[in-house]
Amino acid sequence: MAQHDILIVGAGLAGLRAAFEGVTAGLDTAVVSKIHPLRSHSCAAQGGVNAAINPKDDWHDHAYDTVKGADYVGDQDSIDMMCAEAPQAVLDLDAMGCPFSREEDGTISQRAFGGQNFPRTAYAADRTGHAMLHTLWEQAIKYGVKIYDEYYLMKLTTDKDRASGAIVMDIKDGKLHQINAKAVCVATGGYGRLFASNTNAMTNTGDGIAHAMRAGAPAADLEFVQFHPTGLKSSGILISEGVRGEGAYLVDKNGQRFMQKYAPNKLELASRDVVSRSMTLEIMAGNGVDGAVFLDVRHLGRELILERLPQIRQLAIDFEGVDPIDEPIPVRPTCHYTMGGIRVNKLGQSIGLKGLFAAGEAACVSVHGANRLGANSLLETIVFGKITGKDMVDFVKNREGKERPASSPEDLAQVSRQIAEIKARPVNEGVKQAVIRKELTEALQVDCSVFRDAQRLDRAWKAIEKAKAHYARIVVDDKSDAFNTDVITALELGNLILLGEATVKAAIERTESRGAHARDDFPKRDDANWITHITSVVDPQSGEVVLGRDAVRTVDNPAYAPQERKY
Ligand SMILES: Cc1cc2nc3c(=O)[nH]c(=O)nc-3n(C[C@H](O)[C@H](O)[C@H](O)COP(=O)(O)OP(=O)(O)OC[C@H]3O[C@@H](n4cnc5c(N)ncnc54)[C@H](O)[C@@H]3O)c2cc1C
Repeated sequence: MAQHDILIVGAGLAGLRAAFEGVTAGLDTAVVSKIHPLRSHSCAAQGGVNAAINPKDDWHDHAYDTVKGADYVGDQDSIDMMCAEAPQAVLDLDAMGCPFSREEDGTISQRAFGGQNFPRTAYAADRTGHAMLHTLWEQAIKYGVKIYDEYYLMKLTTDKDRASGAIVMDIKDGKLHQINAKAVCVATGGYGRLFASNTNAMTNTGDGIAHAMRAGAPAADLEFVQFHPTGLKSSGILISEGVRGEGAYLVDKNGQRFMQKYAPNKLELASRDVVSRSMTLEIMAGNGVDGAVFLDVRHLGRELILERLPQIRQLAIDFEGVDPIDEPIPVRPTCHYTMGGIRVNKLGQSIGLKGLFAAGEAACVSVHGANRLGANSLLETIVFGKITGKDMVDFVKNREGKERPASSPEDLAQVSRQIAEIKARPVNEGVKQAVIRKELTEALQVDCSVFRDAQRLDRAWKAIEKAKAHYARIVVDDKSDAFNTDVITALELGNLILLGEATVKAAIERTESRGAHARDDFPKRDDANWITHITSVVDPQSGEVVLGRDAVRTVDNPAYAPQERKY
């Protein structure tokens, strides 16, 4: 059995940033990733990362924009901390060698993003995540972080009331390994793959969140799912908000801009929930073409497009057959980001399981509340990756983490039985994962997306029940051990179904409209009853999701009092 001081599952920006703290503090730090770290979804981030680094900007304004953007259910202590720490977190990356775009005078360039009152989004052309992830990867290599590359998390293990490590599968040969650690961090990203049309990597199946819920660590805010306004019509591939930050227009089938009807001040740069709803209403009113409206950048001119938006142009040419220099790009709202995750305090500690930490999109430190502002997620990964990493070091060096928890061989045996069972089922006696996945993701896309109501959510719930029943009989064609992606995708689907169950249950429970959760049958925000987080955890007896509540953490700042949200 392998032993480490710190075990981090997930090698995206959050995981690698946390690992940097562990390894540079002299602790034995290991990172598990089901894909090569540089393929993590962080690498796909385009638009940029927010930080009040311009002397004319102020982190308090960034925090205000974030509290408002979150529709008043974000945790104010985490938001203050993130915005105050943001400039240093970006400068850390800069000092490590991250190639941010620059102004003539050498300062880091910043562009405008939605829902914010200052152009505070630092970027590296339209490949910001790529630049940041490569920078942190170099540091992991330099300092000798142990990387379990292409290992799949099968289970988070516990010793009484404390996290004790993980069971992982080496994807290359199918062998199971038990890893024991004094502190465990989940940084496995989000679960946007729950929806048929999404901007996410194939790997964004929420594995770590699902395993934490099974291990007794509650998740929260799962009802809040972000639909990005501008996914390419045919594939859902993202066209960054940075494009609107550079001045792009949203237009209908007649070439008319329509956002003045919905957000007279911020227009195309209102927050994402507002823009996605506006576009959906236009499409429903027959003002789109083939389920899409258009993003028009032609007036920005060839030179700017080639310099600042080269990847966007290429994506539009390759995947939509449209060169944005000459034609508007057909776009529609597409699932992009999951605000919910493992419920943690502002230091990244799970509220339910000692020794378990979480950071990045897999965590709910709730800086995004009901709606994330663009470019606050890359920021979350580097700020809370750092803070959580530091707290894990403290936990291991000075607190309960000094003592090593025990690992039980029964965990390995149980996971081994689980895989053997799936492989043993005769193919003609069950249901294949592709069938279950298609039905589930298409149902949620229709009935649990931009607009919701009791009737739609009831249909979504029936789709969850059906998926669960089918999943109990799931079969795989491939019975081999080496690189068995049939088994891996089946396991990922099990995690998606659990997150789907929690998402729909929480969406039914929240009888109001707030941020990304818009219910036609409860169109108003209900501050008297709903300034709270809904938590979800798995009941060990029934295996079902049980909902609870956790208070929104507030600070003493009158500017954060709930107001009507206008843009
Ligand atoms: C197309 C796109 C563009 C975006 N653009 C921006 C932007 O411009 N600005 C912004 O702020 N945000 C952006 N976002 C959001 C942001 O990129 C992500 O929220 C963030 O990068 C997530 O980082 P992470 O470290 O939490 O997880 P990820 O980068 O998703 O990494 C997850 C890691 O977990 C590992 N993992 C997962 N499951 C398992 C398992 N079972 N076993 C082992 N390992 C596992 C994976 O291998 C991977 O290493 C964008 C998102 C997308 C999809």
